[in-house]
Amino acid sequence: MHLVVSSIDVFPRFASLAASALMTSTALAAAQDPARLGTVVTPSFEAMHFDLDADQKAYSGSASIELEVHAATNSFRFHARDMKLERVALRRGHAAIPTTMRRGDLGIVTVEAKAPLAPGPYTLEVDFTNDFNTRASSFYRVVAGGHAYAFTDFEPDDARGAFPCWDEPSFKIPWQITVAIPEAHRAYSNTLAEKETVTNGRRTVIFHRTRPLPSYLVAIGAGPFDAIPIAGLSVPGRAVMVHGSAPLGHVAAQETPPILEALERWFDRKYPYDKLDLIAVPEFTAGAMENAAAITFRETRLLLDPKTMSPSQRLGLISTTAHELSHMWFGDLVTLAWWDDLWLNESFASWMGDKITNQVAPEFHVANDQVTSADRAMVTDARLTTRAIRARQLASDNLSQLFDVLSYQKGQAVLGMLERWLGPETFRAGVRGYIAAHAFGNATAADLWTALSKAAGRDVGAVAGSFLEQPGVPIVTVEVVGETPGAAAPPIGRGCASRSDGC
Ligand SMILES: [Zn+2]
Repeated sequence: MHLVVSSIDVFPRFASLAASALMTSTALAAAQDPARLGTVVTPSFEAMHFDLDADQKAYSGSASIELEVHAATNSFRFHARDMKLERVALRRGHAAIPTTMRRGDLGIVTVEAKAPLAPGPYTLEVDFTNDFNTRASSFYRVVAGGHAYAFTDFEPDDARGAFPCWDEPSFKIPWQITVAIPEAHRAYSNTLAEKETVTNGRRTVIFHRTRPLPSYLVAIGAGPFDAIPIAGLSVPGRAVMVHGSAPLGHVAAQETPPILEALERWFDRKYPYDKLDLIAVPEFTAGAMENAAAITFRETRLLLDPKTMSPSQRLGLISTTAHELSHMWFGDLVTLAWWDDLWLNESFASWMGDKITNQVAPEFHVANDQVTSADRAMVTDARLTTRAIRARQLASDNLSQLFDVLSYQKGQAVLGMLERWLGPETFRAGVRGYIAAHAFGNATAADLWTALSKAAGRDVGAVAGSFLEQPGVPIVTVEVVGETPGAAAPPIGRGCASRSDGC
């Protein structure tokens, strides 16, 4: 995700968020988190069919989820928030299994079987109806230029408000999405369309099965879109926008290919998906969101008028696109195992995004901006209410509070420090090793330190850990204790914002 940071409101907001985050830092370990779904019954594939008409207030759908029961159990849980569940049916092969269903907090649905489920494969079928969200989250509806559109925005835990799923990032599975929409509308998702047919005024689009994705990176959009091709990518590309805005997509179409090419070169690995759509969304809370192969942008970030755009608007487009495309490898191809490592996603994409921006548009000197952003992080981090970059999270926490200046700017500064310490080539070799080892799977910060340590031939985790697991800004005080060279003793303390903070 790419934040929109305003210098006017950023400090008070982040300071109060950091205070509430601190209270969760001593929370239970993930394994003891009662709001996690558990791993006794896990999904391996989900097919979904949606009946969508953005002109209506509600939609309907059905999900067919392949499950694996790993040990005998009477019950399991999945996520489905807000929606009406019309039918929930469990079967093994063709045999229906009698169950009852209970709904709880956080969108958790518990399915209980009358007799224990033996280990093996099962299928869960769920039919549902739901109102579109109207507050730019989950599956939501927007009216722009007199036309209605439907968009999704899920990170971190709003996929459960759109369809039934295992809404935790470690459940990384292939998805197959089918949408039925009015004939005049168009739809996009995470893959190219496999088949598109029109019958009786309804257009049915069957999208290709995705590579393994967590629920938060699934994307669906429908409405009377315009689109223009993005030529020069290693895969088919488009900029997608609301009807009538196509002329404003050409700047993005021109700036994107060198960014993707620079990333493919840095990672030494081809872009991992079968196409790339950049989608301009008229109502959008963040700056952009890295849905796999279907990146959504706040409309004003992506669509620019070449006749009137300012240099800073062009920089905003390039740096946001570079940040989001970095996520295609770091976040999408390799996904955090749990939200504790959200910082790693965002720190890396911010660091990588700046590196690529500097390559494709050196005239902006983004390294200068990094000084400002590190300063901004230090202002928050010098307060007693700050938190460590890597913060323990419970499923019941307000996970959105993690998207702050510490996860982005402080983490970026720490990664930059590690790169300078290890050397750019060693750092890159370590990241490439990490991506290769965990492609299409999940990983943690510890996995990255292991890969970097292997590339560097020394222990990176101990150094990185001291910056990640402790809050605050280290301040080194050098005191001359004698005239003999080398006699200075550098005690390391913690920086504070002011004396009123009490340290
Ligand atoms: Zn991001």
